[in-house]
Formats: sequence, C-alpha cells, structure tokens
Amino acid sequence: MNKKLRKAVIAGNWKMNKTPVETAELIGNIKPLVKNADCDVVVCVPYVNLQTAIQCTEGTNIKVGAENCHWAESGAFTGEISPQMLTSIGVEYVIIGHSERRQYFGETDETVSMRVNAALKAGLQVILCVGESLEQREKNITFEIVSMQTKIALQNVSEEDLKNVIIAYEPVWAIGTGKTATAKQANEVNSFIRELIADLYNTKAANAFVIQYGGSMNAENAAELLDQEDIDGGLIGGASLKAPDFAKIVEAASR
Ligand code: PEP
Repeated sequence: MNKKLRKAVIAGNWKMNKTPVETAELIGNIKPLVKNADCDVVVCVPYVNLQTAIQCTEGTNIKVGAENCHWAESGAFTGEISPQMLTSIGVEYVIIGHSERRQYFGETDETVSMRVNAALKAGLQVILCVGESLEQREKNITFEIVSMQTKIALQNVSEEDLKNVIIAYEPVWAIGTGKTATAKQANEVNSFIRELIADLYNTKAANAFVIQYGGSMNAENAAELLDQEDIDGGLIGGASLKAPDFAKIVEAASR
C-alpha cells in the first residue's frame, strides 16, 4: 500500500563514459523507448555532456543529472563544479556520495553531507548513495554502516528539504561486478533505511521517501528487485549505457 504512494525513479549513472556526440546518439535511442514511462527517468552524465543531454531531452520525460558537485558556490577549487553552475544550465538531479567517489576520491561522510546541503540549497534533487563493502557485510555491520552514512549525510536536512532527496542503496560489492544483491537482501536494507527515515523524521516522510537499489541491476533482474515493497527504483550503471536494457528497466518500474 505504501509503495503506491511513491513514484519510482530510474536513474542512469553513465560514470566516465560517452562523448557529447555519443551522448546525443544514446539519448536519441532512449527517448522513444521510454516516452510512455510511468516512473521518473533520469540520466546522470559526465559534466561535459550535460548541455548536450539537456538539449536532447528538451520536451521529453527524461531529466538530466550530474554525477557529483562541490559544496561551495564558487571559489578556488580547481577542477570542481558548483551546484549553482549545474542549475544555471538546467540540470535537475545530482548523484552524491557514490561509492566510487568515496573509494577513489577521498569522499567522506562529512563532505557528502556538505555536498548534499549545498545541492539542496541550489534547488537540485539529490540522489544520495549509501552502502556497505563486502568486508563490512561479512562482518555483519551493514545496518550500522548504512545508518551512519545516512545520519551524517542528512544531519542538517530539514523535513521540507528531504522531499528533494532520494537514497540509492548500493552495496559496494554489487557495483559493476555483475553480483546483484538478492531481492530479499536489497529489500531488507531498503526497509531498514525507511525505518531510519521514520525515526529521524516521521512516518509520513518515510512513506513518501523514494529509496532506490543500485548494483548490477539489469534488464533481466530489474522486475524482481523493483517488485519489492521498499525498492522504489534503481540507480543503474552499466545497463544504462544500452538503450534497450535501460528501457526494459524503466518498463519494469512502470508496472
Ligand atoms: C552505479 O554505478 O551506481 C551502479 C549501480 O553500477 P552498475 O549498475 O554497473 O553496478
């Protein structure tokens, strides 16, 4: 019953893939396949492809997101992009705290929290990534890790601003590895996150809150994952680079 209160969000995370020309081609292929989607459809693309993606999706049901943003509006932060720069060109979503940023670029729970707040202040919709490593799962501390990441990231987020946040539960061991969490494993953590949101805010906010699963979701396994009570969509890496596969996931979320 609660699931019906929430519209699923399927977001592609293109990571460091595609040139602007290839972006136009891929979006051109995705567009007709998802035009009747009964879920929100987002493509998160590398910075240099944002403008192309925005032009190519004009007048369609596809929204555009970035894969990261800094917490400052401007300043001496060589190589970074501010949330305001993103909104100035029409970007609507931003992924924050992806495990690859945490693993390879020194992202911490504190910097994730700063980025989340800055993105919300600028008017972006945040896709906040949380998830445990294989070692943490094996040590049986998945819930502690996910709880800590979520609490720190949302520490200064008001109930009103929470409406512009989605959490993507992404077990690190399932990202880009072809190893998907079982539907039961994924739903168990998503349901834990929803309870945490209820504790931090309230039941109404928790019931309305979109929680995606991400980690090797593909055209074959999407329906089973998306059927789960607490899985409200997906953050899709590899499969988002193939228009027919991405479209099948969108179709599964539209049922
Ligand atoms: C991701 O990058 O967020 C992701 C889930 O990747 P993949 O689908 O390739 O595992």
